[in-house]
Amino acid sequence: MAQQLAHSQQLKNPKYRNWVKAGLGLKYLKEGLETFSDDVIDQQHTDIINVVQKKHNLPMVNCGQCNLRTLQPDHVRNKNKQCPLGQNNCNCMFPGGKITCPNNVCGTIHDEIIINHASNPPAPNWKNTDVQNWCTDAWAVAKCYINAPGYATKRNAKEIDCTGLLHLYINSKFLQGKIQCKITGQDVFTKTRSARNTIYHSNSMEMEDIEVDEHIDNMIAVLEDGKELLHRQESQDAVIKLKELKNSSIVISAQDEALVIKEAYIELDQRINDLNETIQKGKEAITQKEKEALQAVQKIKEQLENREKEVLDNILKHEAETCAVIEKQREVAIEDITASVKQLEDSAYTQAKKDFQKRLVEMYLENVVKVSPVLLQPERTDTVISQLYVDPYLEIEPREKDNTQEKTKVSSYTEIFEKDGKPLKLIYLIGEAGSGKSTFCIDMIHKWCLAHSEQCTQESENVQFMKKFKFLFYIYLRQTPAFKTIPSCLNYENGIEPFQTNLTGASVPTLSR
Ligand SMILES: [Zn+2]
Ligand SMILES: [Zn+2]
Repeated sequence: MAQQLAHSQQLKNPKYRNWVKAGLGLKYLKEGLETFSDDVIDQQHTDIINVVQKKHNLPMVNCGQCNLRTLQPDHVRNKNKQCPLGQNNCNCMFPGGKITCPNNVCGTIHDEIIINHASNPPAPNWKNTDVQNWCTDAWAVAKCYINAPGYATKRNAKEIDCTGLLHLYINSKFLQGKIQCKITGQDVFTKTRSARNTIYHSNSMEMEDIEVDEHIDNMIAVLEDGKELLHRQESQDAVIKLKELKNSSIVISAQDEALVIKEAYIELDQRINDLNETIQKGKEAITQKEKEALQAVQKIKEQLENREKEVLDNILKHEAETCAVIEKQREVAIEDITASVKQLEDSAYTQAKKDFQKRLVEMYLENVVKVSPVLLQPERTDTVISQLYVDPYLEIEPREKDNTQEKTKVSSYTEIFEKDGKPLKLIYLIGEAGSGKSTFCIDMIHKWCLAHSEQCTQESENVQFMKKFKFLFYIYLRQTPAFKTIPSCLNYENGIEPFQTNLTGASVPTLSR
């Protein structure tokens, strides 16, 4: 929280905001210039290769064997041992040990690079290039026009900062032909090229309103150059972003801030390297001014390091918090959905069970519990069982044959269905023919029906007990000859020996909790 505050507090400082905006401006400018630069660099390369091909009447232009230190240029020094192209320390001035390109290619490209250089005297930056790639890589040629170190390994416009890109338009005559702006030293290209140093070498990381507005206006002018850039989509997109930056209420994120700090950091690193190089070269001749410059830059770098750490911590913390919140929301959502689905399933299942139970009750009341009061007239089913029924004498027979336990008289369903408070799984009712087993079952069915009737008023202990069973299935085994044993008809597979007997005439009420 403290760091988040630090971020917003810091960004409340309008001058610091301006500094971040200027850095973002450079980023947008670069985005707007990248594709166009790649295109015109290719055109420049084709142009140079065509010159080489015509000059030496070559079917194709290819080499890759030469190196800059020993390369003999096509041109030769004049009578005064000076370079006719005006380049200082040109290879032509020291012909000893120089080798002509075996393919008649590299010497001409070398000359064309010098001739195409816009400064006076021409000063291609040979440190940024590798001669062996000249024939195949447009950027190997183009980087000779970036008059600053640090680009030797860059391969395309995306990898090159906007200073590097602007150098190309300032130093290549071919590229100057692609813009309307005249490079005079006071033009928007040159001014914007210097802006990067002004912005990133600022030791306060602050900038006045008027200053940042001027920088951004120049960037817009570069991208709206009337010749070709103005018509490019990516330039137009970048201009929109640059104009938004000028709006004082624009939101600047911690990510934007971190990005600008990172760029500043890279720039300062480069500056420190340059200064160290100068100091190394100069040794004793090193001036106090350069030493002070180095100290100053190192101090800014330290400041940046601290600020970068703060901003990055802030981003990480914010991301972690966001992730945690999202994860929590996701978990809650999943729980809600799961609960709702379960509730729906449960209610559907419960309802289906209730309906089924109701139908069973109706079926039993209609077809089973009405019996004949006259034994010899079984078709007279006009009396409900309870009107005739008298409890039979029942006793519990121990399961094991050698059990010496005494038989106990049964007086309630609890004693039949439970033992030590636990429900029994399988109970056999055994008795002589005509002793009332079927009637006992029918009475039990009636009691179950009463227990599950909506208007149940029966408070007898056995009716209450029947409430424990949600379902009662009354199966006439005489009508289901497929079942040969009681366990098989109950689909009872609990390791109990099937009860081998002739079941003709038996009936089984099966209860389900
Ligand atoms: Zn020369
Ligand atoms: Zn060569």
